[in-house]
Amino acid sequence: MVEKKVLAANERLSVAQEQLDAAIQAYDANRPGIEVMKEVSERLREARVCIDKIQQHLEAAAEVVPSMRGCPACGKSIRAQATLCGHCWAKVDPQRA
Ligand SMILES: [Zn+2]
Repeated sequence: MVEKKVLAANERLSVAQEQLDAAIQAYDANRPGIEVMKEVSERLREARVCIDKIQQHLEAAAEVVPSMRGCPACGKSIRAQATLCGHCWAKVDPQRA
């Protein structure tokens, strides 16, 4: 699922940022290169904000687009939450998301 991949990407970015921040902490603040590391950390943070927005978007889209399943009587595609098949009018048990 796309949601799980996005979540996995966010977790990896989170780990990367923690490791980078730990490296910055351990680094001599006067050495050249520390500003670049801080820049990279900031870009990682921005990337995570973007991923958060994608996750929210995916969650919103999942609510709008109902998931489908096959009617147990006729096999045609019906909404997962449907109580009645729109093709053969068989009563079906709604599935909870
Ligand atoms: Zn049916």
